[in-house]
Amino acid sequence: MCEKMRAIVATKDHKAEVVERPVPKPGYGEALLEMECCGVCHTDLHVKNADFGDVTGRILGHEGIGRVIERGEGVTSLKIGDRASVACFLKVVDTVNIVQQVEKHYVEL
Ligand SMILES: [Zn+2]
Repeated sequence: MCEKMRAIVATKDHKAEVVERPVPKPGYGEALLEMECCGVCHTDLHVKNADFGDVTGRILGHEGIGRVIERGEGVTSLKIGDRASVACFLKVVDTVNIVQQVEKHYVEL
């Protein structure tokens, strides 16, 4: 598995920038997804523009689809290779578009 990932982050001057970040390890109840696609919604624009406060470095994108490539402890309803959606705000490990608690949002496509 790759140790680095590309992510789009909010910058201090309210722009979006592609950066490299370490791939996070999924915590308890979390799954790591290799994203197949991810949307950018209006909420992401508010985050980028610091409308909710300065979140420089925050990864944008919280609505997408990916394949499970690693499971944290306690994840029982997903297996490696399952397709899962990331469709709302959940507890996030500072990587809105990669690691999510997805058990409640599993979709079969
Ligand atoms: Zn959204």
